[in-house]
Amino acid sequence: MRKKYWFYIDSYVHISIKKNAVLFYNPYTGKILEYNDEPGILGLVKTLRLPANLRVVPLWETELNNPVIREFVSNIKENFMGDLLDTGASHSKPVQLPPFPKVNKDVKYLKMDKNRSVGEDIMDYLTDLRIYVNDRCRHNCNICAGAYRQFPCCTSWRRGQRELVIDYLKILTEETRSAPYLDYHILGGSIFEYSMMEQAIEIIKDLSNRKIFYIHYLNVKPDKEQLKMLKEAEGELMMLINWPLDEVKLNLAFETVFTSGIESNMTFIIRNERDFAQADRIIDGYSLRTFEVKALYTGSNRAFFEENIYIGKDEIEEARPSLKDIYSRSFVNAFHFGKLTVLPNRAVYADVNAPYLGILGKDSIYEIMMKELSQGKSWRNIRRNVSPCKSCTYECLCPPISNYNTAIGRYDMCRIRKEKT
Ligand code: SF4
Ligand code: SF4
Repeated sequence: MRKKYWFYIDSYVHISIKKNAVLFYNPYTGKILEYNDEPGILGLVKTLRLPANLRVVPLWETELNNPVIREFVSNIKENFMGDLLDTGASHSKPVQLPPFPKVNKDVKYLKMDKNRSVGEDIMDYLTDLRIYVNDRCRHNCNICAGAYRQFPCCTSWRRGQRELVIDYLKILTEETRSAPYLDYHILGGSIFEYSMMEQAIEIIKDLSNRKIFYIHYLNVKPDKEQLKMLKEAEGELMMLINWPLDEVKLNLAFETVFTSGIESNMTFIIRNERDFAQADRIIDGYSLRTFEVKALYTGSNRAFFEENIYIGKDEIEEARPSLKDIYSRSFVNAFHFGKLTVLPNRAVYADVNAPYLGILGKDSIYEIMMKELSQGKSWRNIRRNVSPCKSCTYECLCPPISNYNTAIGRYDMCRIRKEKT
């Protein structure tokens, strides 16, 4: 008598099908299995995914005699993604419930749920407010025009000698103080050149949220008074370091920061392997424990990015995105989500590379966030909506679209596509 099995794929396994390509991903082990141009496997997986089948289908012994199907089933079993059950062992088909994600961060749900106060809930989403208080600085770094478009960094690029009028800082903090998960990032130019810095500190001091002040090492003055002021506001310091480096000034800045008692962190902005090696030497030399290294795309270091930033299958397996990451990547852009930037001219952005959303003092932060949630291009800029990622089985496994993609001008900063073609 022909033997029959139930073949099932576990509910935690992520399955993606694009044209003739099928991908399975086990979030617990990070393992990815891929099949291309295998009609037998494609047909079987499509049947498994039919809503009525709930990822369980009958498989006859004769089908398992097909070497392609046999090897496929064996790979699935070996990688803890599913199994075969003897149909004789149960009276009916086994049932499992594949997950159906509900997206809380969706304006549709916010509007539908009449019992929730949208105004209050929406503030839960605000996690980063980057406030550029001025654009004045006496230096002339080569990164000034580009870095702030890729990650939080000081800029005086526009050099409009503009300052955020203190009343607007007051409005901004009043409108956002109810946001429970919000960090305030205070940037310039040189924030010490902000003529209303003392009044700003009085306002910022009152906030119970985390406050991070960004200062380029060239703008750290040896007298410590300025750092003392930031410390009194219970702020932290993020010191920015880029190349070419003035080592004498950097050493002085380190000494000032370390002896001021302010909680500090460093961002090393590197362009190539040489900058990286020097950053590594400094990190070791000062035994730095809290630091970040950010690669800056300059327009002429594509090879460095291809080597170090572009992702491959191995990196994804190693990063092991969770099911939560995968669901989130199908609906929102975690790189941008919850972040707003205010420039000294009061223009508010979800992403400084996209058009501004509103004007501080004219449009409320609540209105600006609702606008971004309902029509915006940044918080919901996901791979599913852009080419070539939308045709790729990795669309929910790859990290969210970031400002590097904008700087380089392509979404597929990966080796995966190349490997496939
Ligand atoms: S210190 Fe910052 S703001 Fe000043 S020139 Fe350099 S990058 Fe621009
Ligand atoms: S970056 Fe885009 S094209 Fe490259 S693997 Fe990820 S989803 Fe696919």
